[in-house]
Amino acid sequence: MFSSRSPNEPETKGPQSLDRSKTMWLDDGNIVLIAQNTQFRVHRSHPTTSGRGHGWVPNRARLDSPRDIEHFLNALYNRSYHTKPLVLDVFEAFLRLGHKYQVAHLRDDALACLAAEFPRTLKEWDDGPNTYTVLDISGENLPTLRLLRLVQELRLFKYTPIIYLTIAITTTLESLYKHVPHAISSDDFLRIALAAEKFREARRRVTFAWLNLLPCGSCSTTKACAVARKCTGSSYFFEYGGGPSGGLLNSPFVVLGQCGGKWFCKHCYAVARASHEAARALTWENLPVYCGLPKWDDLTNFE
Ligand SMILES: [Zn+2]
Repeated sequence: MFSSRSPNEPETKGPQSLDRSKTMWLDDGNIVLIAQNTQFRVHRSHPTTSGRGHGWVPNRARLDSPRDIEHFLNALYNRSYHTKPLVLDVFEAFLRLGHKYQVAHLRDDALACLAAEFPRTLKEWDDGPNTYTVLDISGENLPTLRLLRLVQELRLFKYTPIIYLTIAITTTLESLYKHVPHAISSDDFLRIALAAEKFREARRRVTFAWLNLLPCGSCSTTKACAVARKCTGSSYFFEYGGGPSGGLLNSPFVVLGQCGGKWFCKHCYAVARASHEAARALTWENLPVYCGLPKWDDLTNFE
């Protein structure tokens, strides 16, 4: 909030002493704003802090996290603060305060990062690098859980299915359980456990349903294709299957390539590929429902 005293006047020690920001205490600043126990001195007339053109209202900062405000102000003054990859502290500040104060370029920058890391279409999922690219998660323990909490706080529900999926793919329930209650709510733990069960079931019943279709009616080498079917199923589930969602959304080319799909006759291969591809599309469509959420079209952001 704006302080009533002169910005040059030293802070008198009250019952609750205030710290000064080390990076946002500008020599020629002419307003002081306070977030919790930290003061920041910036320019009242600076176009990015004066409130013109957006909803940045310094006197609403009292309850904001000083860490968020520090990154937020630095970003308003310094474009190089946007360099990718963004560390999670900076990303959170952009998203949380960019939204709160309607600073569109910060909020949209952060939303673009979220969209890049958590695709919302199967094609984006297939084309993605399958690793974090625009967010710097080095040194983070369970970064995906931290991102889950943030999107829940800001009601960015369109991202939750992929975040649940990513957690289910990359983390075991045992390691999640060990982090309860510090990193995950019991509600989220239960939801992820249920989602993992649904993913496992979908993999067996939907994605790999083609195992029950082979050898197909047009099969030219029935005996060989029956053996190949058995090998494919066992090698995928026992060697490549991994966690509950292993193979759930893998491309049929990857699955059939890894599992000796070359052993199938061309007819069986075509049946397997078409079934697997259709199943992936259906599985993607159902992802939110597997997570106990509304369908994709009914998931909203910021509402
Ligand atoms: Zn065949």
